[in-house]
Amino acid sequence: MKGFAMLGINKVGWIEKDKPACGPLDALVRPIAISPCTSDVHTVWEGALGERTDMILGHEAVGEVAEVGSLVKDFKPGDKVIVPAITPDWNSLEAQKGFSMHSGGMLAGWKFSNFKDGVFGEYFHVNDADGNLAHLPKELDAAEAVMLCDMVPTGFHGAELADVQYGDDVVVVGIGPVGLMGVAGAALRGAGRIYAVGSRQVCADAARGYGATEIINYRNGDIVEQVMELTHGKGVDKAIIAGGDVTTIGQVLKMLKPGGRIGNVNYLGSGENVLVPRLDWGCGMSHKIIACGLMPGGRLRMEKLAAVITAGRLDVSPLLTHRFQGFEHVEEALLLMKDKPRDLIKPVVTI
Ligand code: NDP
Ligand code: ZN
Repeated sequence: MKGFAMLGINKVGWIEKDKPACGPLDALVRPIAISPCTSDVHTVWEGALGERTDMILGHEAVGEVAEVGSLVKDFKPGDKVIVPAITPDWNSLEAQKGFSMHSGGMLAGWKFSNFKDGVFGEYFHVNDADGNLAHLPKELDAAEAVMLCDMVPTGFHGAELADVQYGDDVVVVGIGPVGLMGVAGAALRGAGRIYAVGSRQVCADAARGYGATEIINYRNGDIVEQVMELTHGKGVDKAIIAGGDVTTIGQVLKMLKPGGRIGNVNYLGSGENVLVPRLDWGCGMSHKIIACGLMPGGRLRMEKLAAVITAGRLDVSPLLTHRFQGFEHVEEALLLMKDKPRDLIKPVVTI
């Protein structure tokens, strides 16, 4: 079968591979809508996970089940399914402890385009099909449902990690598709004012639509000064980080009130250390918490988040700024994600 792959750090291309084997608990899925992720960009062009050779990329797909193992109960060939980016081993000790995304080791619940071939192939393998596939609700468009694989769960996880409460003032640093879902998640959880940091106009407009009350352009000056001015020197209760670099956590600690929480979902692709400013962290006694996480995956999470859309509480269509038809456009879509033209939020390819 054909797949679009990371050939090595800085190198991508089409390759031929054998169709994956399907174990008794597994499924083989044929993608019908896929999207590249900024994480693919960190992995290939920053070499953030280390070397990977001839690994098919992609971890965001809605597909059709092609084959199931003999022990799979709830899915059959022909079913349309949402496949989460994170597909844990549900019987692992880490999952039993509540950290399924780290089943088998740190970040090891993230298998597609990390530890095995991803979803940009003619077929892809899903472990633990009953635990990791979700039926695509009839009323959901496949291209829009792809946002449930990674963008919605990750942005919402940022709001969960930050523990956004009713009336909290929240800063969301980074308003690409993940940060935009952070804004939406914070608004759904009852945030007060939401300060959204980004520079692309298309993202700023979408952020307002999802509930941001103020937009801060980091290219127009220090974001700490801008947030402190807008909050009359008080700072914010909570922060979601979905963009920036190793200096961003330090900046956010400066604008966070004592007892505040950061929910970081940003994938730090480069840099050795994250610097924590000692004084702004109350010399280690500020009760300012830095929580960070890989998104939770699995079937229940997909079903719950799909329900947020089918109940009419979330519209993901504004994220889909670039739509392609045909598998061969995967390369173009990935390069868009790498180059981030000013009118881009997220590309999607339907097959
Ligand atoms: P984008 O690149 O589309 O968005 C990044 C955002 O950060 C943009 O708004 C960008 O602004 C802004 N930004 C860039 N530099 C700075 C800076 N120095 N200060 C403040 N803001 C800045 O990324 P995505 O939304 O696709 O993804 C966000 C992150 O989440 C990525 O690192 C991705 O790998 C990660 N991720 C993590 C997952 C998880 O499970 N934890 C899952 C999926 C993704 P501008 O408008 O100028 O572009
Ligand atoms: Zn991703």
